[in-house]
Amino acid sequence: MKEAKWWELRTDGVIQCKLCPRHCVFKEEGDVGACGVRMRIGDKLVSLIYGKTSGWAVDPIEKKPLFHFYPGSAAFSIGTVGCNFFCLHCQNWFISQARFKKGNTTPPIPLDELPPKRAVELAKTYNCTSIAYTYNEPLIFAEYVYDTAKLAEKEGIKNVLVTNGYVEEEPLRDLMKVIDAANVDLKGDERFYREVCGVRDGFEVVKRTIKTMKENGIHVEVTCLIIPGYNDKDEFFESVAKWIYDEFGPDAVPLHFTAFYPNYRMTNVPPTPASALLRARKIAMKRVGLHYVYTGNILHTEGETTFCPSCERPVIRRRGFSIVEYKLDENNRCKYCGTRINIVGKYKPESSWLFFYL
Ligand code: SF4
Ligand code: SF4
Ligand SMILES: [Zn+2]
Repeated sequence: MKEAKWWELRTDGVIQCKLCPRHCVFKEEGDVGACGVRMRIGDKLVSLIYGKTSGWAVDPIEKKPLFHFYPGSAAFSIGTVGCNFFCLHCQNWFISQARFKKGNTTPPIPLDELPPKRAVELAKTYNCTSIAYTYNEPLIFAEYVYDTAKLAEKEGIKNVLVTNGYVEEEPLRDLMKVIDAANVDLKGDERFYREVCGVRDGFEVVKRTIKTMKENGIHVEVTCLIIPGYNDKDEFFESVAKWIYDEFGPDAVPLHFTAFYPNYRMTNVPPTPASALLRARKIAMKRVGLHYVYTGNILHTEGETTFCPSCERPVIRRRGFSIVEYKLDENNRCKYCGTRINIVGKYKPESSWLFFYL
């Protein structure tokens, strides 16, 4: 247990969490927030998952997905339990929806100790370029992310968030001091956030998060998981792509349209057909003008390839999470025409043999 940051004890004796826009209130001893991992103990708010993990793995950075950040490198990936969302389609529901019960500090599922120092040591041992805070929602264990990332930074290791982006501005700005890159879900319109994820104002908050991240120099990629019947309309694809284009231009924020598979409380919904992802990609690239748009969770050669926006030749070919061809020079310029491609960091082909799961 560790005292949380970003909360206040109000004059009426109620504790209020200020980490995410839910602003949960804790009136009684042992009350737990909606994310299931922050509890009132006495007159303090504590994080119950600081330094505890439900599992870690060495993943390719492409799996986050981050296609434009140290391509081919290994990311030491850490998850815990809990989430401030209740997504009906969550692929990791067994950890994200595992919450502590009121007054009970026993974890809902077994957790291992992984203090920040140990996480950084392991990342170094496995030759990881970055640590990724992922699997469940990392913003709800922001205290641990911050401390680990600060240590990692000293060792020259990058820090990556894979997040739903539902966070308040102040903690986000604090975190941005130690974070290098993020993949942020832009899940749907406000109705989608309300009905599928169980939160208010999700679309606006997440867009604000992406803007704040970019203003702070973070490399950001956006993921839209497309669910048939929920967020698979052309207007939605176009609105997301257009918002990215208008805010950041055609190059700065790569966009991933990924496929849904029936899961958790959405087992009655069919998987996303490849045609929907290809349509979304086409709209975002051809109609809106974004340069880097990908398909994910399906095998599709063109949808996994980075094309040079000038000469239009393939410059990074991928198969799944592996890079099979890399046609950029060491300054990340197209080898055919010299155009600079928006890639942060260098290609790390040597790491690929290390990926494994615990
Ligand atoms: S981080 Fe958790 S406790 Fe804090 S406001 Fe969000 S859901 Fe509530
Ligand atoms: S935000 Fe992500 S981890 Fe949380 S419930 Fe939704 S899909 Fe799962
Ligand atoms: Zn080129």
